[in-house]
Amino acid sequence: MNTPQQNKPLAVLVGAGPGDVSLITTAGLRWLGRADCVVYDRLANPSLLRSCRPGAEMIYVGKGPDRHEMTQEKINQLLVDKVREGKLVVRLKGGDPFIFGRGSEECDALAAAGLEFRVVPGLTSSIAAGAFAGIPLTDRRCGPTLALVTGHEDPTAAPPPSGAPKADAQDSGRIDWGALTKIDTVVFYMGVGNLPMIARKLMEAGRDGQTPAAVVERASTVRQRTITGTLATIADLAKQANIRPPALTIVGQVVALRKRIAWLEKLPLWGRTILVTRSRMQASALAEQLAELGAEVIESATIDIQPAPTGPIDQALLAVRDGAFDWLVLTSPNGARAVFERMPAIGMDARGLAKVKIAAVGPGTADAMRPHLIHPDLIAEQFTTESLAESLAKQIAGQAGKRVLLMRADIATPVLAQTLAAAGANVQDVVAYRTVRPATLPPEALEALREHRVHWITFTSSSTVENFLAMTADAPPDLSGIKLAAIGPVTAATLKAHGLTPTVVAEPHTIDALVNTIVNAERP
Ligand code: SAH
Repeated sequence: MNTPQQNKPLAVLVGAGPGDVSLITTAGLRWLGRADCVVYDRLANPSLLRSCRPGAEMIYVGKGPDRHEMTQEKINQLLVDKVREGKLVVRLKGGDPFIFGRGSEECDALAAAGLEFRVVPGLTSSIAAGAFAGIPLTDRRCGPTLALVTGHEDPTAAPPPSGAPKADAQDSGRIDWGALTKIDTVVFYMGVGNLPMIARKLMEAGRDGQTPAAVVERASTVRQRTITGTLATIADLAKQANIRPPALTIVGQVVALRKRIAWLEKLPLWGRTILVTRSRMQASALAEQLAELGAEVIESATIDIQPAPTGPIDQALLAVRDGAFDWLVLTSPNGARAVFERMPAIGMDARGLAKVKIAAVGPGTADAMRPHLIHPDLIAEQFTTESLAESLAKQIAGQAGKRVLLMRADIATPVLAQTLAAAGANVQDVVAYRTVRPATLPPEALEALREHRVHWITFTSSSTVENFLAMTADAPPDLSGIKLAAIGPVTAATLKAHGLTPTVVAEPHTIDALVNTIVNAERP
């Protein structure tokens, strides 16, 4: 472990990027992980806050259903005050802090107070919109110039005194529309409401109404929408499509390239919302793979894995070291993790496993051992407990009294132990971890179900089925029309036992195969 660096009083303006959490810089993430206090607003993805230290102070300064946005002066003062309290303050801002982000005003305030600050750039939303919408903001076939323009000069400013010109009139007063007609690509930030005015002003100044134009809403997120038209039609099209902020408008010949370059919408799971029921501690390999294929993934923990009492585990492991067992059987990555967590705690190194053969239920469990340079001697053919029982029974057939240690969940089925005992083994079953059912689904999952936005629900074990149903028993969601994906026949049977029909069952029973069956089912 690295020794934590000592923080000194400092403000760091960090660009959070356009929305997708993976698009913040590594420098930004590092500062976020060190911050004593984080001041963030609406456009910075709140999931980024998970990278903060536990105990870091979080201050939201954006708009909310029941609150006004904090004024810029108050935010400036807050930054100054928090740095003066001796804190490392990260000011997390959507996109880039200096592109229509008022970061400069915050720096001014910090400088005036004689305080130190840094600025970490972020990926501004127009660049992200270009990449994800397949609209290169510059292309040498279309021309050499690009302008970023605010379609709403100062959305957070107090309303102008009565009699003063309205905001859009102020903007149009300060923007040189004639000059903009000579720029090849023009991107308007914050212009959703003002789009009719923007298009009109540009055309009045001489830009051809046939110029291709696009509006990109929520760029870089799973809910990105892109509409295209011409300068003459785009305002109406945006209105018809009910485009909402955050969105930006791109005007120029480059928009026409989207026809060939658009790629996001071609991802096999684009536009699909998938609820992944899973154990909280499981690696989210499934969620990651689905997201990479374009799906909106809502992770919904239905099982919490908690440590089991360590006494019996430790005792069993010491017995393994002393050669008391022929086989150590692990039926999930969690079991493997429990073993490798306890070994150092009892002063046992990898050689402590030298005298035992190791059996794993499948590749996921084998993967959990790999970092410890342990390769299982046996992996079940079918990646189910039943198959593991069969394979292992074959191995020990005819050798009475083989000593087998099972390290499993508290709720594991008795089948494995029974089959092995029937094959003549001497079986000891130790609880390696406990499974607990969370009280409810996370709010994002409940909301998506309520809004009928969910296309698929994945189940990776019988307990994910049982728990999902138990967790929603009070107000059962309408699952009609939702496709259900089961990792294997046992999970599928559990679904059927509850009157639910699995749409697909993975074969073999792995995460990779589960993803493939979903992709195949979605193929037109
Ligand atoms: N500093 C930010 C811009 C803040 S102004 C940046 O560099 O991106 C807010 C405007 O940015 C919004 O009104 C919208 O026009 C644009 N914007 C921010 N995030 C966006 C997104 N994910 N998709 C489309 N536009 C976005």
